[in-house]
Formats: sequence, C-alpha cells, structure tokens
Amino acid sequence: MQIRNSSDWRDALPFELPVPAADAMPGEPTRCAGCGPDSEPWPREGLWIVKHRHPNNPAGFVRYYCADHKPTPKLAPPPMSAPERARRTRAAATPRKAAAPSMPERVAVLCPDCFVEVPASGVCGMCGQRVG
Ligand SMILES: [Zn+2]
Ligand SMILES: [Zn+2]
Repeated sequence: MQIRNSSDWRDALPFELPVPAADAMPGEPTRCAGCGPDSEPWPREGLWIVKHRHPNNPAGFVRYYCADHKPTPKLAPPPMSAPERARRTRAAATPRKAAAPSMPERVAVLCPDCFVEVPASGVCGMCGQRVG
C-alpha cells in the first residue's frame, strides 16, 4: 500500500478551509491547482492549502491554490456529526450531580410529619417542629 493515512501534517488541517501554505507546510514553490499544469510554481508565501473532503478517503486530499484561485471558505460551521450531537444532547439532559462530600457531616434527618429533610438547625422548615 502506497497510501499513508497515518499522522502527518495534513491531519491537522481543517477541511475546506484555506490555510497559508507557508504555515501549514513550508517547502518548495508549488503550482496552484487552479492555474493549471503549465503555470509557474508559486512560492509558499503566496499559496494556500485547502484540504478537501474525499468521497472514499476520510483523510481527504490537499490542494494548493494561489490567492486568485483560493476557494472561499464556507462561513457556516460544519454540521455536527450525529454522534457528537447525541453526546451533547445526552450531556444536557443528564442533570449534573453535585459531588458527594467525602465526609458526610451529618446524617440527613427527616421530619416525621412532613418527610422533608430538616436543616442543620434541627427545625423543620415545613412545620417548624424541632426534630432530633
Ligand atoms: Zn492559481
Ligand atoms: Zn415538619
């Protein structure tokens, strides 16, 4: 297999978003994909790298563009992937439990009449009865 999808600099690139080529991958002058195969190579300072999505390769593929041919980045954020959306919904639906104190200071006392927890004062907040 010639294709290497293992971690290289392309993995760090965002999809469909032009990044300055000199930042992403400094190197030799490279031709712009829009200028055509007969064009002069551009120095990386004048080039943009765009990682495009590929239907068969999840790693996508990378193209170089000059400033004239640089694709306009889509301003809308990419839609959330389904698993991510599910994870967020679940996180929002699950009430966050207060961290249990490592050393309970006292056992909860319930008012025998109201069955509510009596505060530390020992006076039931519902009926005013002193409990415990
Ligand atoms: Zn070009
Ligand atoms: Zn009570």
